[in-house]
Amino acid sequence: MRLAVVGSGVAGAYLLNRLPPGVEAEAFEAKTEKNWYTVCAWGTSEPFITDLVKKAGFDFQDYVLHRGKNMVVDLGDEELNIKLNGLVTYDKHRLTEDMLKGKNVHWGAQVKAADGGLDGFDLVVDSTGLHRSLLPKVEDDLLIPSLEYQVKSKDLPYDDFVIRPYPGITGYWWYFPLGDGMAHVGAGDLRGRYRYELDEFVKKHHCEVVRRVGRPVRVTPPKYMEPFYDGKVVGVGESIGTVYPMLGEGIIPSMQCVDLFVDHINDREGYRKAVLDHYSVYAKVYEFVKAKVENRFSLMKMLPTLLSVYWYMRGNTRRYGLQTELSTFYKVVTRL
Ligand SMILES: Cc1cc2nc3c(=O)[nH]c(=O)nc-3n(C[C@H](O)[C@H](O)[C@H](O)COP(=O)(O)OP(=O)(O)OC[C@H]3O[C@@H](n4cnc5c(N)ncnc54)[C@H](O)[C@@H]3O)c2cc1C
Repeated sequence: MRLAVVGSGVAGAYLLNRLPPGVEAEAFEAKTEKNWYTVCAWGTSEPFITDLVKKAGFDFQDYVLHRGKNMVVDLGDEELNIKLNGLVTYDKHRLTEDMLKGKNVHWGAQVKAADGGLDGFDLVVDSTGLHRSLLPKVEDDLLIPSLEYQVKSKDLPYDDFVIRPYPGITGYWWYFPLGDGMAHVGAGDLRGRYRYELDEFVKKHHCEVVRRVGRPVRVTPPKYMEPFYDGKVVGVGESIGTVYPMLGEGIIPSMQCVDLFVDHINDREGYRKAVLDHYSVYAKVYEFVKAKVENRFSLMKMLPTLLSVYWYMRGNTRRYGLQTELSTFYKVVTRL
């Protein structure tokens, strides 16, 4: 089977290293090799991603930058402390780059349609993330604009993870340490309240801005991102909404989506069902986030949804790398 992988982010790169026997792949990446970059805060759960990365033949330990112990959640009038259990930052750019080494990648190749030069391929993967360049667009796609600075300074104010959710849970400000006097400071917010806050941080803590990047992140879950396939095009990763809506966490979910794709490479309907099943909780989280954003949140009405989200987070401590206490969860969802 000849496979075209369109988009070489984390999903595309991981897929190139997870091909079943008998499958040959070529990748097409819109950016030139020099301009290609993995826009992301690089936070993930070490125990969980280690297993995935190992399946692709890499050792995650080689890429870890900072291991978190405690995350401060700044609610404005109160700071909550969440004990961390595996949340780390890692050099996502270097790992993704290493995953692409030796692969057949066409750089600077922006693909606009599956029949545009891809006729010879049996299957075309849309792993273009936010762009969803090959699959039909969806209505009501919720995208959160975000901006991030990679900073360097001798005066960084924190030595561990810090987040500050915006009122109405329209997004959050983050500080993710990268070790060696470096950090990612960023903000994603539907109302775009971030630019001046990041500049203020840079000024106050005498930072050198190493890189300034921004792109929206999709929080529409797979349930609302159908179709996942259209003719010989199949979507994988953020292009079909594999981002945990409350956290904007998309690395592990996109890699898991690749695994589902590989398991069902000859069975598109089976893949569709597996994706809907695997990410079903994302739809619940999304309902909650949307209700908050649209100012129609009611604790009474949403209690069953919230409790199922809480139990999901609680039961997945290893998966998310943080310990979620009911009191903390309650404060975050009700006070903001
Ligand atoms: C600011 C920010 C911070 C984030 N922080 C985190 C975090 O800390 N932890 C976490 O888990 N998740 C985080 N995320 C989410 C996570 O980065 C994404 O969900 C994840 O990278 C999605 O992977 P992907 O491979 O599906 O898409 P992407 O990583 O977006 O890759 C898509 C690739 O496709 C290419 N492309 C696009 N269109 C075309 C085309 N037409 N032809 C060819 N190539 C094309 C792009 O250039 C890109 O290389 C963050 C997102 C943002 C925006």
